[in-house]
Amino acid sequence: MENIIQFVYIASASLFILSLKWMSEIKTSRWGNWAGTAGMALAILATLLKPEIHGYLWIAIGIVIGASIGTPMAMLMPMTAVPQRTALSHAFGALAAGIVGSAEYFLHGSNLSMPQLIVLCIEVLLGFLTFTGSLLAFGKLQEIIPTRPILYPGRNLVSLSVFAFSLFLIAYLVIKGGSHPFLFSSIVCLSLLFGILLVLPIGGADMPTVISILNAYAGLSSSFMGFLLNNKLLIIAGALDGSSGLILSIQMCKAMNRSFTNVLFGGVGQVLEVADPSRDGKIVKSLSPKEASILFEAAKKVVVVPGYGMAAAQAQHVVKELTDVLENRNIEVKFAIHPVAGRMPGHMNVLLAEADVPYDKLVEMEEINPLFPETDIVLVVGANDITNPAARKNPGSPLYGMPILDVDKAKQILFIKRSMSTGFAGIDNDLFYSPKTIMLFGDAKKVLNELLISINSN
Ligand code: NAP
Repeated sequence: MENIIQFVYIASASLFILSLKWMSEIKTSRWGNWAGTAGMALAILATLLKPEIHGYLWIAIGIVIGASIGTPMAMLMPMTAVPQRTALSHAFGALAAGIVGSAEYFLHGSNLSMPQLIVLCIEVLLGFLTFTGSLLAFGKLQEIIPTRPILYPGRNLVSLSVFAFSLFLIAYLVIKGGSHPFLFSSIVCLSLLFGILLVLPIGGADMPTVISILNAYAGLSSSFMGFLLNNKLLIIAGALDGSSGLILSIQMCKAMNRSFTNVLFGGVGQVLEVADPSRDGKIVKSLSPKEASILFEAAKKVVVVPGYGMAAAQAQHVVKELTDVLENRNIEVKFAIHPVAGRMPGHMNVLLAEADVPYDKLVEMEEINPLFPETDIVLVVGANDITNPAARKNPGSPLYGMPILDVDKAKQILFIKRSMSTGFAGIDNDLFYSPKTIMLFGDAKKVLNELLISINSN
């Protein structure tokens, strides 16, 4: 039986690796999802066959509790709440790792060797700090707690002291060996506290990056658990999770022009309240969708720039309908995809795939940017920061240095949004006042529907 289990584990690990590989491309991402799900199902089935398992009652109870939390989470939380959902999933995964480690200590603590104790303590530290950190991230994203960074004097010293004290207790426990429930429980409490202290000073703006870092911690914790339980699949899956989480965090920081260490150590990401005298006297041109529809009559090339507002309005289906209508009139339509458009990497890709927009129409930032000067109309659907030229021109702007879509180089820019409000970064966008820009104010779905009706009747 053990041989069969190990064989299934190898198949499962291969599926996890394929899943990551396939998920890195839009065309194969659905297979990636299936491969990951199949790998996990195989891993669970093989583990259930292990001879060490004497009864299934508690496992069944765990499955029922897990499914009754996970199913409504997957079905009821909207796409715009994906970051929160991910934070909650990490919290539960990390809690599981922490609990398994604690159970192992309370059951076999006195029999564990020094290396086993080190591994167990690191697993528990990472698991529990990820649990509270992810819960806090969820609270901030869901705006249950204030999204601004919560800063207090000497916060770095407090956090570092808590961390150093947990490491000291771990060293003491490992050197002393044997069973010390009070000492171990203190390490658990300090880990829980450290997770809170780690995320408290980080602003809501950086939360998706923080979630990705916490994902890496949860992965590492699972990998350590694999060493402890002598489970090779857990080691591999945890290492894949840990490394991919870290790579994603670094990429997100690059795409948002954030310093990785700043995000890691907190105190950044606050929405900056920039005094904005620049708006005074500037002219904003706006048209109704019906008036704007005439502009498409002379257009040959259109680029759609989707952003968070498209997700919020659930306007992806009507965007697709509009694309079809324009293409029927021999207008070339492409979609410009910024790496951090929306609120999670890949947010726009997922929504547009849901609306059956063909993958080959989605063009990454580096490839689409040189095409903007020859684009007749750029239709910006609920995007803001990712188009803001201040990122290129204004060294004083919090967005300065962030790579953007060079929408300002197109011949005509139509912005669909509800008001003159700022985007996620909380700063004004000079592009709204450009002579080339026309604002179409309103909810994205409603404006696009009206535009569609008008173009059809022209
Ligand atoms: P954005 O800068 O937040 O702008 C979105 C715009 O959509 C807003 O200005 C809003 O203006 C408009 N909007 C909201 N609801 C709407 C509706 N129902 N109909 C029409 N418009 C609506 O979004 P973005 O351009 O996609 O840029 C993403 C931002 O998120 C960046 O700052 C990025 O750094 C940040 N971020 C992204 C990630 C990621 O991984 N993707 C992670 C963390 C942070 P109105 O209120 O006037 O309508």
